[in-house]
Amino acid sequence: MAQHQQNLGMGLGPAAKLEEDGTEQGAARLDGSAGIDSEVRKSGHSLLRDPRHNKGLAFSEAERDAHYLRGLLPPVIASQELQEKKLMHNLRQYTVPLQRYIAMMDLQERNERLFYKLLIDNVEELLPVVYTPVVGEACQKFGSIYRRPQGLYISLKDKGKVLEVLKNWPERSIQVIVVTDGERILGLGDLGCQGMGIPVGKLSLYTALGGVRPSACLPITIDVGTNNETLLNDEYYIGLRQRRATGEEYHELLQEFMTAVKQNYGEKVLVQFEDFANHNAFDLLAKYSKSHLVFNDDIQGTASVVLAGLLASLKVVGGTLADHTYLFLGAGEAGTGIAELIALEMSKHTDTPVDDCRKKIWLVDSKGLLVESRKESLQHFKKPFAHEHEPMKTLLEAVQSIKPTVLIGTSGVGRTFTKEVIEAMASFNEKPVIFSLSNPTSHSECTAEEAYTWSKGTAVFASGSPFDPVEYEGKTYVPGQSNNAYVFPGFGLGVVISGAIRVHDDMLLAASEALAEQVSQENFDKGLIFPPFTNIRKISANIAAKVAAKAYDLGLASRLPRPDDLVKYAESCMYTPLYRSYR
Ligand code: NAD
Repeated sequence: MAQHQQNLGMGLGPAAKLEEDGTEQGAARLDGSAGIDSEVRKSGHSLLRDPRHNKGLAFSEAERDAHYLRGLLPPVIASQELQEKKLMHNLRQYTVPLQRYIAMMDLQERNERLFYKLLIDNVEELLPVVYTPVVGEACQKFGSIYRRPQGLYISLKDKGKVLEVLKNWPERSIQVIVVTDGERILGLGDLGCQGMGIPVGKLSLYTALGGVRPSACLPITIDVGTNNETLLNDEYYIGLRQRRATGEEYHELLQEFMTAVKQNYGEKVLVQFEDFANHNAFDLLAKYSKSHLVFNDDIQGTASVVLAGLLASLKVVGGTLADHTYLFLGAGEAGTGIAELIALEMSKHTDTPVDDCRKKIWLVDSKGLLVESRKESLQHFKKPFAHEHEPMKTLLEAVQSIKPTVLIGTSGVGRTFTKEVIEAMASFNEKPVIFSLSNPTSHSECTAEEAYTWSKGTAVFASGSPFDPVEYEGKTYVPGQSNNAYVFPGFGLGVVISGAIRVHDDMLLAASEALAEQVSQENFDKGLIFPPFTNIRKISANIAAKVAAKAYDLGLASRLPRPDDLVKYAESCMYTPLYRSYR
């Protein structure tokens, strides 16, 4: 397989740099200058069928001569811009979102640079297509729409041979792995092997938004079976037709996988756990964060982006993080992950033990407020937030008793921030901070309109799913979207460019602070507490620089010497999708 890579000329021209240091510096210099020469050893049909080098109708006359393409293409030469215009036009003809998803996946398989150019230039329009919410439907129907394999499948059948399976992947220099076991895909539950759409989608965002080069990204699905009866009975299901392995059998496969990853790719490969169920997610993160470079976006990425939103909110509502009282509805991966990061940031800035900081944070789960008397029966990740208080069954009771200044919804249950709850928040806060983070829109704890109307325009509001601007008494309020895609691509880039060998919580805090700093006064004036997505590559570069700086400060960075200007360095490392000229 290394042979395959050499044949593509990957070790030559600007790409040679890419092989040496693992970043795409050669390509970075291509920014705005598509004309830099690069050598490609493929020709004829095999060049047109190679998504990494195919340019479709953009091959020049000279390239058509040099690479035996005459006759294989019609006479016209179309620029990348024209191709992009045509494809966007075609995509917009599809009325069914899944058709757009399939068209984008086909493009990725056919012409990788054009795929990323479309995604980067039209990020707000295409993000929901290649990622949530459309990717959720794609996973549900993955078996039916499956055409070509994407990513690597490791199943129970591969036990004892996981290293060999990894070696079958054609790329050697991997920097980011996103891995799922498909047990809790988005809000859709157990989709087994069909969860593959998630690592594939997430990694395309690592590249488009964070500039990690596509060949360095590896999507993996670990198939230990599924408990989804519909899938088990679906003749088109692509995974193991058995119920989920648990306990020792499960953990042995995971252990073999994690060992093989380190053996094959070394210490500096980032392994992102994605959409694992609660009962495994926390344990896997805790276990492997000591020995591997691991990150869980559902827990840590969510926490980092929401903390950024809170830090930005402070500029509107005043006070420090420690001056506020927090109440969550929902105490799962998102809720407890956010709560813990808030406590850490508070502790860092006030020199107070983190346990004392946790006392300012309250959580309500499906059984009511987490309180001391429930501690014995609580899952371990909830225990640190079970404080002394009389038991409370409902959110409204908890709101009235605790009088939080910040209310955060991570329950996955829609319409739970009722009129009474929001009115109560507005009655004792001049500017209540209300984040209604559950996805999709129908699961949001309240809508933007409800938050602004019921609080009489005083709420500082953000949501997990996008909401349109709201008009209330002659003023327009623009709700911010607390999208994980603000943080994880830049975070990953920061880890990669510094050669970090472990993720430290301070690196997550650095990412939050970097994101919060990028909200401008103009954004605040509109009510926004997150910057516009259109600047996401710049945002990612700034986050990467802060994360890398923290990794260097902590002695966790292995790429030396430390660059003087980390923002410039991060930008210079980012993959750009412009076509190259082939000699
Ligand atoms: P999870 O399953 O780990 O946790 C859900 C929690 O909600 C559990 O503690 C459960 O007990 C609790 N819950 C369920 N029903 C409840 C009810 N009626 N009242 C109170 N609590 C209830 O899920 P998660 O990963 O934590 O995600 C939760 C939600 O947060 C999802 O809807 C997800 O889409 C959203 N989310 C948003 C972002 C973002 O905005 N960037 C990021 C991650 C997750």
